[in-house]
This record gives sequence, structure tokens and C-alpha cells, in this order.
Amino acid sequence: MEIVARRLGAALPGETIESAMTPGLNALKTFDPPFSALDGAAFTGVRRRGKLLLLDVGSASHGELTLLLHLMSAGRAQMFDKRASMKDRTSRVLFRIPTPTHPDRELRVREFGTKQAAWVKLLRPDAVEADEAVATLGPEAWPEPPADLAERLAAPRPLHSMLRDQRVIAGIGRTWVDEILHAARLSPFKRGDDLADEEVEALREAIPGELGRVLDVYEEQVDLPLPEKFPKPTRVHAHQGEPCPRCETVLEAVFYEDYVMTYCPHCQTEDRVLKDRRLSRLLK
Ligand SMILES: [Zn+2]
Repeated sequence: MEIVARRLGAALPGETIESAMTPGLNALKTFDPPFSALDGAAFTGVRRRGKLLLLDVGSASHGELTLLLHLMSAGRAQMFDKRASMKDRTSRVLFRIPTPTHPDRELRVREFGTKQAAWVKLLRPDAVEADEAVATLGPEAWPEPPADLAERLAAPRPLHSMLRDQRVIAGIGRTWVDEILHAARLSPFKRGDDLADEEVEALREAIPGELGRVLDVYEEQVDLPLPEKFPKPTRVHAHQGEPCPRCETVLEAVFYEDYVMTYCPHCQTEDRVLKDRRLSRLLK
């Protein structure tokens, strides 16, 4: 989301919204101020909080407003210099932002897959921080984890679930949790309240180290109109069966219903192979 905010932040401010639409029936979660307040409004800024994208606009009829966007896992914000075709079923939110050189420019929030999970809220400035999605966010993981990282993690929960809990620390997705825990040489099932000081320090280094590494790749490879599929510069996540990039032990994985958690038994779990929950459930 950071790279999306950077790219849109370079392109949108100053541009005027000719019209705004929500073809995704359930995408818009607010009704006051009305979405029509965006017609004729100008973008003033683009921000990111956790996995949320915030588009600030100035509306002639309603003053300053903020569009709060959560793309969820299958959503993308993309900018095109061609109008959406009538057959386009992926657009949930659509802004026409013609410029003198690009009369057909559109910013679209598109969603791929069957679920309609991405959402948008149109809020007045004072309602942004108070909004549940923003108010419940923990401190940002990047560029620097919070000073009280140890206290925030001190709960009887496994690291792999805690690190992607946006209330604990904001901005880490499940893909990058695997990379971070591998970099820090920590077991995904190690409990947060069972971390030694040096283990917290290893995480403090690994979190910005891994997120920064990914961002460097995005900086080089991701540009407008913003891709449907982002590069995934992973070394561990979903690489089960391949050699560990550090010690060459075969990487193992635990499979969940909708994702996979990959780790190196030698670097992270004292040579123990963790139980595959999918298998153990089938064998019950
Ligand atoms: Zn290893």
C-alpha cells in the first residue's frame, strides 16, 4: 500500500474529479456526506495508514473530505488513461479525472475474485481518526517499529498471528510475516510473551529490513497505472520444498484454509517440523 500511496500521491494532487461512481453495490459504507460531493472536487493529498489508503479532497460544496479505502486482499487501485469498458465487472469505485493531456483518465478501485470485500468511506476530516478502521490501528511497522514493541507483543499469542494483527502493529501482511520471522530466526509459533530481549531486537531489525527490501523492489518495478499483480520478492513465503536461502535446509510449511505459512526448520524451529494443521485435521 505504501507504493500505491507514493505513486498516486505523485499523480493525483491538483487533479479534479469530474464524476465519482460506485458500481460495486456494497463498496460505499457511508451516506453522509453524499458521494456526489466528490463531483468537481480536487485531490489535495494521498496518505497511507496501515493497509488503508486515504485520499484527501477539497469539495466545493462540502469543504475538506477524505476517502478512506480498504482494498482488502483482492482489491487494487489503478489509474487508466482509457475509460472502463461496459463489460468491466471488477470496478467497485470509479473516478473520472480528465486532464488536458489525458481526457479519459480514470482512477478505479477494482476487485478480482468472487468476494466483494473492498470498501470505501467518505468522511469529514474530524471523522477520519475516529473511524473504527483507523482508530483501532496500532503504530506503523515501517519505517520504524514502535519503541514499545516488546510490550505490544507481550501476549500469549503466536508471533505469526500477532505480527499481522493490525491492532498490534500496522502494515504487515501475512506474506511478509514469514519473511520477517525468517530474517529474525524466530519460530512462527513462538509466543509474544516468551521473547527474550535479543529476540525483540532481532524483530525490531527484521521488520523494517524486510519491508524496506520489498519496497525497494516495488520502487524499481511498480509504476502507474499500478499493476493487477504485484511482484512478490519473497525468499521464504510459499517457497516450501525449496532450500532455505540461509542454510539450505528444505523449507517447510503449515497450510491453513486460505493461506500458507512457510518457515525454515533449521533457522527457526530448532530442526522441528511443525504439525501441518490441514493434514492433522483430515486425519482426525
Ligand atoms: Zn535455514
